[in-house]
Amino acid sequence: MKERHWHEQCAIAEKIGKAGSFQKYAETLPDILNAVISKQEVCCIDEGTPDGIRFAGSGIYYVITQGTEKGKKGKEAIYAGLEAAAEAVKGSPAEFITSHDECGAAGLVFNEMPDSIKKEFGTSDNLGIYFAKELSKKTGLGYRHIGIKEMARPSGMHTAMFAYYDGTGKFNPDAVPGLPQGFVVSRKYLGKEEALREIELAPKIATGEHGYGGLIKPDKKFWLIAVAEDPWALESLVSELKPVSDSYKGKVKVEGFLVKA
Ligand SMILES: [Zn+2]
Repeated sequence: MKERHWHEQCAIAEKIGKAGSFQKYAETLPDILNAVISKQEVCCIDEGTPDGIRFAGSGIYYVITQGTEKGKKGKEAIYAGLEAAAEAVKGSPAEFITSHDECGAAGLVFNEMPDSIKKEFGTSDNLGIYFAKELSKKTGLGYRHIGIKEMARPSGMHTAMFAYYDGTGKFNPDAVPGLPQGFVVSRKYLGKEEALREIELAPKIATGEHGYGGLIKPDKKFWLIAVAEDPWALESLVSELKPVSDSYKGKVKVEGFLVKA
């Protein structure tokens, strides 16, 4: 299973390499102008979730960045995360909040929780569902859960070798045949600080035990693609990503994609 996905991803990376750049490759795809989201839903950055506005775990990662890392514990950290996620959601055109099966971001948050909360929720997915439901109440938006069968990746593993750092807030690679599947972070609706923390999760997962691990090497890189609608914004997003790729010592590369209307 893993091997088939790996070969598919390597084949597409090779095609992009041959085209000269991600930009040149994308421009050869006949449906490239259709790379836009069809649902105003907040969903996870996970490459398997359907298109939408993308925050890690639909905002649950804020429990770490605005909660536990600021010295808050348990429920207090969860409430701080909800507060920050609600602000981000309110700044977007979202109409729905989703949660999904096997959410890695919910898993990271669950691991930071005291035993009492682990006991109360039982699994990280239950915590993710609770968070998304609370966020929907707080923002007055609808809620739905996305099961593993609805997801475009196998259970238990991440298959993407690409991640999109989306400054447009509406980029959807799944809508275009030929574009590589990837994690997506809606940089447009997250501050720079939060968006960077979330995009960092993508190469971390891909090079870890739930991804391709040691198969990602300097000659088989993980790709971070900045997406923007004007050249200045693109330049700035690419430079935001550089420190992330630098920390992977040649195993992660950064490119830009300028969306042309
Ligand atoms: Zn997730």
